Amino acid sequence: MSVIDLVPYEEALASYDPVMGLEVHVELGTKTKMFCGCSTALGAEPNTQTCPTCLGLPGSLPVVNAIGVESAIRIGLALNCEIAEWCRFARKNYFYPDMPKNFQTSQYDEPIAFNGYLDVELEDGEVFRVEIERAHMEEDTGKSSHIGGATGRIHGAEYSLLDYNRAGIPLIEIVTKPIEGAGERAPEVARAYVAELRELIRALGVSEARMDMGQMRCDVNLSLMPKGATRFGTRSETKNVNSLRSVERAARFEVQRHAAVLNEGGTIVQETRHFHEDNGSTTSGRIKEEAEDYRYFPEPDLVPVAPSREWVEELRGELPELPRLRRQRLQSEWGISAVEMRSALNAGAIDLILATIDAGAPADQARKWWLGELARRSNEDGVELAELPITPAQVARVSALVAEGKLTDKLARQVIEGVLAGEGEPDEVVAGRGLAVVSDDSALGDAIDAALAAQPDVADKIRSGKFAAAGALVGAVMKATRGQADAARVKELIFEKLGVTPE
Ligand code: ADP
Ligand code: MG
Ligand code: ZN
Repeated sequence: MSVIDLVPYEEALASYDPVMGLEVHVELGTKTKMFCGCSTALGAEPNTQTCPTCLGLPGSLPVVNAIGVESAIRIGLALNCEIAEWCRFARKNYFYPDMPKNFQTSQYDEPIAFNGYLDVELEDGEVFRVEIERAHMEEDTGKSSHIGGATGRIHGAEYSLLDYNRAGIPLIEIVTKPIEGAGERAPEVARAYVAELRELIRALGVSEARMDMGQMRCDVNLSLMPKGATRFGTRSETKNVNSLRSVERAARFEVQRHAAVLNEGGTIVQETRHFHEDNGSTTSGRIKEEAEDYRYFPEPDLVPVAPSREWVEELRGELPELPRLRRQRLQSEWGISAVEMRSALNAGAIDLILATIDAGAPADQARKWWLGELARRSNEDGVELAELPITPAQVARVSALVAEGKLTDKLARQVIEGVLAGEGEPDEVVAGRGLAVVSDDSALGDAIDAALAAQPDVADKIRSGKFAAAGALVGAVMKATRGQADAARVKELIFEKLGVTPE
């Protein structure tokens, strides 16, 4: 691998306009595979979820999964696409050990959905429209593991293992039209598009779209045009990028790399590239096949797909509220700003906040706990918010205990810590750790008397009108009660005892 001197990002953008194309593969969450009845469940022993059809044995015949087709149409509709009245599957012929049929059943020039768009919101609230070329149905390949090498890649491996459980799992591939005009924000647009698409897929309930589990992966095509040029440059295609952050980094790196090559009078080769998480770089993969190389032809073993207009309209009518509109609605219901809504989105907190509200907490409290204490914990522990071992109902209970005056915020944080530590329900943690607020006046009275006796000078100051001095006494009482006193009540009692009434 030769090391190239990347052109600084801003400098690259001063001379070139980036053009991008994003191809996203989504693994559908259907129970069975796209063309046979094999289970798609994850985690089974290798090669236990196979049959003659997904192993490509001679004489086996595929049958289309109706839920797969329905999901493809729903995705197409949500992406504002036209839905084909009639379309076919096609064979994409190539040999690879993870694909025992020697062809992938896909769609070629007759995709089920085409000509759509997705509006995506950038960090500053600006909306960018990404146009969709097509969404088509295909199947996943098996999974190869290369054993014995240092890198896990085939080079240097001693042998390879193949698991065909994944072969035939339904995939929808969503391809954008060339994305132009994003300028320096191209990497941000790429990330925002994949993020919005992921929200959409989840809202439709067709896949969990977990990028870390390979359920959604993105190929980033990128080329540069000298400013003022009218023809696109040659693209590179960075394959299987599997996190939002990586999508953004891969696009950014390719801008800098292309600019470096072009500045030196070099030419970009059309090739696939691998993205490296560790340093954010890409390296050369294989020289890109042309469509002719795949010898596409219509799949003779499957009937054409001809969704009736009535069915398509029925599916359109049943689409859920789409994520961007839902966010706009929640933003106004919760009375928050667009920036606050974005931080809830970025934290993956929207559904958790909603569930907490459903469990009885006021919106501001639900937001406060998930975006404050719990977000801090999820960062610290390096896990998603949703993976923290606390439920929205438990957060709602903590919030209720605070509202009832049984916990201070400080105590509530300890209760949350206890729940996260597996000490049980919030009430059990309160009992177990003895955390209830001491607001019983007689119990507080003794502690206040002791504090007044210990700091007579402070008492005098308060009597002479320096009410702020009460803080020292409140502090002493809090200490004496191990933080379990209701600070506001303590202050009131101090003023009462000293016979003063601050404004
Ligand atoms: P392939 O299967 O060869 O990757 P596709 O048409 O499926 O081809 O996808 C190519 C993607 O790249 C599309 O999103 C397309 O809009 C985009 N694209 C095409 N030409 C260029 C280019 N010169 N620069 C950047 N993106 C491009
Ligand atoms: Mg491609
Ligand atoms: Zn099968």
